[in-house]
Amino acid sequence: MDSTFRRTHPNHLQVLKERLLLGERVYLSKAITLVESKKAEDKIASSELIDGIINNTGKSLRIGITGVPGVGKSTFIEAFGSMLTGKGRKVAVLSIDPSSNRTRGSILGDKTRMDQLSRDPNAFIRPSASGSNLGGVAQNTRESILLCEAAGFDIIIIETVGVGQSETVVKGMVDYFLLLMLAGGGDELQGIKRGIMEMADHILINKADKENIKAAKKAKEDYKNAVHLFPPNDADWIVPVGLCSAIEKSGINEAWDQIEKYEAVSKENGWLDINRKNQSVEWFHERIHARLEDSFYSRPGIEDELKKREELISSQKISVRKAVDELFS
Ligand code: GDP
Repeated sequence: MDSTFRRTHPNHLQVLKERLLLGERVYLSKAITLVESKKAEDKIASSELIDGIINNTGKSLRIGITGVPGVGKSTFIEAFGSMLTGKGRKVAVLSIDPSSNRTRGSILGDKTRMDQLSRDPNAFIRPSASGSNLGGVAQNTRESILLCEAAGFDIIIIETVGVGQSETVVKGMVDYFLLLMLAGGGDELQGIKRGIMEMADHILINKADKENIKAAKKAKEDYKNAVHLFPPNDADWIVPVGLCSAIEKSGINEAWDQIEKYEAVSKENGWLDINRKNQSVEWFHERIHARLEDSFYSRPGIEDELKKREELISSQKISVRKAVDELFS
């Protein structure tokens, strides 16, 4: 939170909470900045804030969207998000991009993206959290989801680049996972691993337009066949394979129809609820790990202690086991 805000509002946390619950996007932004902060005082304030809004969370549908750079994620989210705000929904878009940091730039954040959606009063777009620590980015994103929900956003889109481990992390925080693919690239070429395909609740082949239509239809059949061979998913859901053109805005409504169907089915059979409970328990354990790690590495003099032992280990004067035992004795 910026210091001007803190100075002008002695009761800043209360104001932040009230404005957030009123759905004011500026305050939602401030709240996200607060939970992303690494300062000790902000961490305490973040806990208080999250605790204070927890009863206003959980009512959105959380959708993960992934695909390799260039597949059309931002073009798709622009079309998909605008279609949803047109239906009266409030859409928040958060991105996870562990490759980004202030000096290197990022795959997701270095171009003007989602121009129309960013000007839509019923949409909120948060550029990717920066940092190379995927665990840390994920923690922040989970809390940002809660803040967006408290601010009244009922569709939360978590966007990630489909090239690394970030999909597993996103899968662990969403209700529905949509994979965007291209026709004619071959899985290898697209850099999409089989594991990521198995995680998907929906496969959409984008850029099914103009001269690409024939190849897209062929890819659709191929992916349909591939999906049949995957083990059944926990949600008891047959993964749809569809076509769309984010540019021509075709196939977008059909994609949404499928998502609504999934929402209805998974509410009915209880999976939505079970999945969220599992995710919360997992998050709880992740947080414990993070706290333990934090408190270990912030011990006074720890750097020297570690350095000394690294040298002893390298010169084989001490076993790794002994070195660790010493640090914990
Ligand atoms: P991202 O990196 O996955 O976010 O991809 P972008 O949305 O930035 O799109 C990459 C490029 O593909 C851009 O030049 C888009 O204009 C183009 N593109 C996106 N969607 C479509 C589509 O449905 N059809 C065609 N022909 N091009 C598209």
